[in-house]
Amino acid sequence: MRMILLGPPAAGKGTQSKRLMDAYGIPQLATGDMLRAAVAAGTPIGIQAKAVMEGGGLVSDDIVIGIIAERIEHEDARKGFILDGFPRTVAQAEALDEMLAAKGLKLDAVIELVVDQTALVQRVMTRAAETQARGEPVRKDDDPEIFKTRLAAHNRDTAVVAPFYDQRGALKRIDGMQPIDVVSAGIDQILHAAKH
Ligand code: AMP
Repeated sequence: MRMILLGPPAAGKGTQSKRLMDAYGIPQLATGDMLRAAVAAGTPIGIQAKAVMEGGGLVSDDIVIGIIAERIEHEDARKGFILDGFPRTVAQAEALDEMLAAKGLKLDAVIELVVDQTALVQRVMTRAAETQARGEPVRKDDDPEIFKTRLAAHNRDTAVVAPFYDQRGALKRIDGMQPIDVVSAGIDQILHAAKH
């Protein structure tokens, strides 16, 4: 099962990915995680990517495509994978198609978790206020201003990638505001249909 999961931060992608990983025995490939690991390890790629990531920009297509091309060759990705945070540009989406085609493979599904972003910001603000009221430090990711910046960056990237797959009739949307189990069932339905 080879799929792309699209959706803003805090939309439930992490929760759904975890379940899919267990259900299908496939890894989640998150380019953000891989790049952060490269930065932490101080590899040549990490050194190049560090400043761009800190500035909130996009790391070059060549670097990110190279990372994914290498990663999908690993044994654990043979049965499939869930891509998270990749592709973010048309060049990346086209490179992915080519990479898979060269192996005689294709994507089974591209699923977007659609959420009410105003409600999402509200949720993060409430959580931050409650954390503060308990006298605990607010996690950086839950800082409402940082969250809004991440949301804006997500919208910028998805504005490119979602139409790419939509034009090919490959994009499926699910209402991510529904209860977790309902979203899960919706994803399973799409994946089931993709296999038949
Ligand atoms: P994320 O954890 O997905 O929000 O990614 C963190 C940062 O890594 C992003 O802000 C980008 O700077 C970089 N990054 C992650 N994935 C990609 C990608 N597919 N293309 C370009 N830059 C990326």
